[in-house]
Amino acid sequence: MQDSCIFCKIINKTIPSSIIKENEDVIVIKDLYPKAPVHYLIIPKKHFSDIKDLEDSEINLAGKLLLMAKELSHDLSGSRAFRLVSNNGKESGQCVFHFHIHFLSGKQLLDF
Ligand code: 5GP
Ligand code: ZN
Repeated sequence: MQDSCIFCKIINKTIPSSIIKENEDVIVIKDLYPKAPVHYLIIPKKHFSDIKDLEDSEINLAGKLLLMAKELSHDLSGSRAFRLVSNNGKESGQCVFHFHIHFLSGKQLLDF
C-alpha cells in the first residue's frame, strides 16, 4: 500500500471504482476513460510501480495476472479477441505508477 497511489486506494475501497472481478491477489476494474468498448485494468493488489519493480519471486503473481486475462475472455462475445497492454515508465505513456495491464476488446484493434 502506498498512501499517494490511486490504485492502492481503489484496492482498499477508499475511492470507488467499477469492479469486474476480484480475488486475493488481483482486482479488475473498468478504466475510467475507456479507449475501447471493453477496457479493463488488471491490477495486482500488491503495489509495484511497474514491471521493472517485480522480483523473480513474484513469478506466481505474474502468472495469475495472465490467467485473469484468460478468465475475462470467457465473458467476451464473438471471437473473444482481446489485446493486453502494459505501459512501463513515463515515456511509454504510463500515468498511474502502480503496475497494471490494460485489457481491451470489442472493436478492431489493428493500429498498433
Ligand atoms: P497508464 O497510462 O498508467 O498505463 O494507465 C492508467 C489508466 O488508468 C488510464 O487508462 C486511465 O484512464 C485510468 N485511470 C486513471 N485514474 C483512474 C481512476 O481513478 N479510476 C479508474 N477506474 N481508472 C483510472
Ligand atoms: Zn499502489
